[in-house]
Amino acid sequence: MAMASPHRILSRHHRIPFKFILTRSFSTSTSRPQNVPHLRTYDPHTSLSSLRVNPSRLLNTLHHTSQWGTGHRYGAHPTETGMSRLALSDSDKSARDWFVETTKALGCEVSVDEMGNIFAVRKGREGTEGKAATFVGSHLDTQPRGGRYDGVLGVVGGVEMLRVLEEGGAETGFPVGVVNWTNEEGARFPISMVSSGVWAGEIPLEKAHGLKEVGGGTATMRGELERIGYLGEMPASHEAMPMAAHFELHIEQGPILEKEERKIGIVKGVQAYRWFTVEVVGQEAHTGTTPFNARADPLLAASWMICLSNRAAASFDGALASTGILTLEPGSVNTIPGKVKFSLDIRAPTDKTLDMLEKHLRSDFDNVVADATRNGQEMSVTWQTDSVSSAVYFHDSCIKAVRDSATAVLGDENLAREMTSGAGHDSVYASRRCPTSMIFVPSRKGISHNPKEYTSPEDCAIGADVLMQSVLRFDRQRVATEG
Ligand SMILES: [Zn+2]
Repeated sequence: MAMASPHRILSRHHRIPFKFILTRSFSTSTSRPQNVPHLRTYDPHTSLSSLRVNPSRLLNTLHHTSQWGTGHRYGAHPTETGMSRLALSDSDKSARDWFVETTKALGCEVSVDEMGNIFAVRKGREGTEGKAATFVGSHLDTQPRGGRYDGVLGVVGGVEMLRVLEEGGAETGFPVGVVNWTNEEGARFPISMVSSGVWAGEIPLEKAHGLKEVGGGTATMRGELERIGYLGEMPASHEAMPMAAHFELHIEQGPILEKEERKIGIVKGVQAYRWFTVEVVGQEAHTGTTPFNARADPLLAASWMICLSNRAAASFDGALASTGILTLEPGSVNTIPGKVKFSLDIRAPTDKTLDMLEKHLRSDFDNVVADATRNGQEMSVTWQTDSVSSAVYFHDSCIKAVRDSATAVLGDENLAREMTSGAGHDSVYASRRCPTSMIFVPSRKGISHNPKEYTSPEDCAIGADVLMQSVLRFDRQRVATEG
């Protein structure tokens, strides 16, 4: 992409009207003030306490980006809408353009890989050019009826870090960066975290590029990347864009922090999950002329299976099973359907528990089909595996950086707690290739993937402070060990 000079971008930014001013009005742009001495953050004698995020600017930026893909309105306040910014849609392109322009204006070198992942890298001290950066990463895409915070907070938290460093004339030991990962949600192209997966070398590029959008559309990931101008030339690979570490700030998306009145979750790992598409094929038949004992009703069978999956998961410690997509053919009031497909999402804290749950369900589903075919009707069930994510354990050095930062920012270690993430995140794949950890902030009522998803401005700022401090602490540690 041809980019304007940082100077021009900056003046363009000043002209962007701010619709959502929460507390007071000011620009979200930053330029390094004149005569600010270099603050060598990697020098162990330098205090990091002067580097704090600007809470209003952070929030204004978050709400500013919500103009692209504004979703369902649930309240009267200007910010009380959800988000509907599906990956590689026109609104996603606008949010990406904003990210590229903003980080370039902050002096970052921006590169885009062939999955459309965008990496913005800020230089470290002299002599570290070309060294891997310590990254902050998350995603700008949302669910079709999602909220303003999932993913977005992590990216704007990274941008705020760049602004604070630039404003404070801070020099880090090594480069630091922010990455926006493509299609994290898996809501439009049905593999979640697909682009960090390709970067990590765990999902083949061709498979990712060939993904078709859900809902029967014909658009592919590659086609959409091309259409919006984000099919980069750089290989999507940890070799082309290595990372020294990956830190991700994210809303908890669950009720634990709020319930315990804590501010920060120090994320030690992520539970295992598997996604399947289960297809049940029976026999189309007339609803009025076909007695029950002559039917092979795949919807009835699928309904039993969904109920059984719920019951089975409840019997395993910490396990979950859910169905979010159900389709049937042909879809007529007076025809028993012939084919039903449903999604099955199963999760557990360990791989071993998940293995047991899957085995249990496969046998349950076979039993349902066996029951249905007892009268001579034909029915079959097949499982297609769409996504597999093993239990993940994050890196001790990153977890320590988050823990120390949380204590420093909060002034009370009891306001933070260690936890395991219930949801998958790009940090899962990042952790396969570099030290990784995550920082959780409270979600109001634990609600997420919902327009009403909310995290207070105070908690967003605390999270962003812990994020920035974690990056700086890790960077300092790197200087101590790598020189
Ligand atoms: Zn997310």
